[in-house]
Amino acid sequence: MWLFRQSGAVLERSAHRMALLDVQLLDSLPAVLALLDPVSLAAARQSCTGLSSQGCSEELWERHCLARYWRLKSCGPAVQVTTWRCLYSEFSKLTSEERWEAEWTGGGFEAISESEWFAGSPVPRTNRSSEVRFSVGQVILNRSGPYRGVVAGWDEITKVPKGWPSLRRDRQPWLSKPHYSILVHGGGSTYIVDDNSELDRVPGEVSHPSVQQLFLRFNGQVYEPSEALRSAYPEDDALGPLLARRFCNACGAEGAKFDCGICRVVRYCSQECQQQAWLQHQHVCRPARA
Ligand SMILES: [Zn+2]
Ligand SMILES: [Zn+2]
Repeated sequence: MWLFRQSGAVLERSAHRMALLDVQLLDSLPAVLALLDPVSLAAARQSCTGLSSQGCSEELWERHCLARYWRLKSCGPAVQVTTWRCLYSEFSKLTSEERWEAEWTGGGFEAISESEWFAGSPVPRTNRSSEVRFSVGQVILNRSGPYRGVVAGWDEITKVPKGWPSLRRDRQPWLSKPHYSILVHGGGSTYIVDDNSELDRVPGEVSHPSVQQLFLRFNGQVYEPSEALRSAYPEDDALGPLLARRFCNACGAEGAKFDCGICRVVRYCSQECQQQAWLQHQHVCRPARA
């Protein structure tokens, strides 16, 4: 499952993702986030009624529909649709279950091959989207589990079989959110969105059989990725440790200022915190390379 290709860094962009980028260009990201929400759908219906009573042009309809419901174009119902106005009116008649189906089909989720499921794609994740919150090697806490685990990979959109039990058809746009592959402390694995998860501010080691394959070592703050993992997630390498360093390695307070003088990996807010953490930290602390 964990095979990574080092060359051929062709950017993976499904039609689905392209549509999202187009909307970002339109500077309408909030509209994307509100996508398919029933309340905003009702509001849009109102404003569309306004538009149509003013006899506005099809061009204006297109802008309206693209800005608020960009996926209309790709996943509108399979009917004979000739205008944006028409497309919108068909779409607004769908139940939430039907909309989910339309999103799944129109977004190309069905076409994602089995080898790509659960962050299994060998294509390097270059041009990391700002929506991706965690980096490979970071230790996270999931409150709803609750469990602790290390991030072993991620996708910018959901890549799972349609029958995956965790797919939330009632929460949209669930499919377009970044998903993370997590090695859970104690041995299991999971694939989750970032809801209910946060960075473990005082991270400890994670016991899992795949940890040694994927990571070189735990440095007190993050797991240092193996060469293969590093090439698969080139932009995570610098980002992960940097983000984790904001927190005191003893008490978890934000804005820790003092480096561990030996490894220069972890930080503390005070000498007391450093002394308190040393009993644990001495096992992973290694002198920084000059
Ligand atoms: Zn502290
Ligand atoms: Zn240290």
